[in-house]
Amino acid sequence: MTTKCPEFSTFGRRFTRRTGALELMADLGEALSAPGRIQMLGGGNPARIPEAEAIYRAELAGIARDPEAFARMAGSYAPPEGDLDFRAAVAKHLGTRYGWQLSERNVALTAGSQTAFFLLFNLLAGHGPHGPRRILLPMMPEYVGYLDLGLDDDLFVAARPAIERQEPPFFKYRVDFGALRVTGDVAAICVSRPTNPTGNVLTDTEMRQLDSLARGHGIPLIIDAAYGPPFPGIEFVDATPIWNDNVILCLSLSKLGLPGLRTGIVVARQEIVEALAAMTAVLSLSPNNAGAALAGRLLASGELSALSAAVIRPYYESRMREAVACLGDSLAGTAFRIHRPEGAFFLWLWLEGLPMPSSQLYRRLKQRGVFVLSGHHFFPGAGAQWPHRDECLRLSYAQQPEVVSEGIRILGEEVRRAYAGGG
Ligand code: PLP
Repeated sequence: MTTKCPEFSTFGRRFTRRTGALELMADLGEALSAPGRIQMLGGGNPARIPEAEAIYRAELAGIARDPEAFARMAGSYAPPEGDLDFRAAVAKHLGTRYGWQLSERNVALTAGSQTAFFLLFNLLAGHGPHGPRRILLPMMPEYVGYLDLGLDDDLFVAARPAIERQEPPFFKYRVDFGALRVTGDVAAICVSRPTNPTGNVLTDTEMRQLDSLARGHGIPLIIDAAYGPPFPGIEFVDATPIWNDNVILCLSLSKLGLPGLRTGIVVARQEIVEALAAMTAVLSLSPNNAGAALAGRLLASGELSALSAAVIRPYYESRMREAVACLGDSLAGTAFRIHRPEGAFFLWLWLEGLPMPSSQLYRRLKQRGVFVLSGHHFFPGAGAQWPHRDECLRLSYAQQPEVVSEGIRILGEEVRRAYAGGG
């Protein structure tokens, strides 16, 4: 006898919707299992960099040979804040490097930084004793992974940026402080730096302004440095990291090439760390130990920062230059612009006056085996009314060079066809 799928709760329905994040992860799965040739320019997967992998594999082999290290990684639950030695190493590293006053009590580990954002956003925003509170995103477009994390609807308010047209083919989004309103219902400000999807790196001045805006309103500033310093340090311009007791800094081991270890690192005042630990205890007892085990010694010895500076950053910078050159060739003569690629590993393409929405161009590209992300996913709140959101695509340049260049070549054909009005 066949049975019916049970009816889902409000929570169940909310977290099984067809979200941008689900589309992205489903594309990744589809591309991996597809029989034909696929150009995967869509996902957020980091590149496989042989020098980095060799270091991680050697470290893992050392752990496998050492019974104590193995037991610590696999044979015991860490406290809900995460492995103590690793948290102390993070605090010491950041304190020494940037002069921040930190101890292990300022550091919590989570199952990837995605989980940290789920916990933080719902800790600070949503329904509370004083009514609904929201997270303000001062920059749009912003990381798609935030947008469906709320237990409550309308968790985000976002402000349009100013668009600065630079020498072709580049442009840059800047925080429009003149238009930014921190209303009484804003619980925190959050920004990714470097930004996914655009590769923007907010300037030190913009960060200082956001910091003082947040302090002035008595709300925290959440900085998502998944691509930033101190590791993996994928930024190609000078950018000073900031932390103080009003900042919640979110780091990750993923973009070092270790996304499967699911390790997020939150650096914050003690009360926030304690709150995260309490929520982790309820949800999963304790975080994964593997990231702490694999990266701990490398972090404490300075090898991780050296790897970031000497291998990982230059790798992505040279891949970025190749991808920009490829796009310049394949789109020559069309009205394209690229967000100035200052960090992360994405190119954000603006096709001004595109006669079809970017979601349709995305589907056409998918039919030809090229996976990108349509820009419309990255504009929450008021961004939905902005025609600009339907003129943009995000391309990752982290995959094999020949995959990226072939994908960009096909993209060029489809963009020309779209501008020419071809059905
Ligand atoms: N923040 C940004 C800006 C990202 O691009 C990503 C992943 O793509 C994450 C956070 C989440 O990464 P993880 O959960 O692997 O740490």
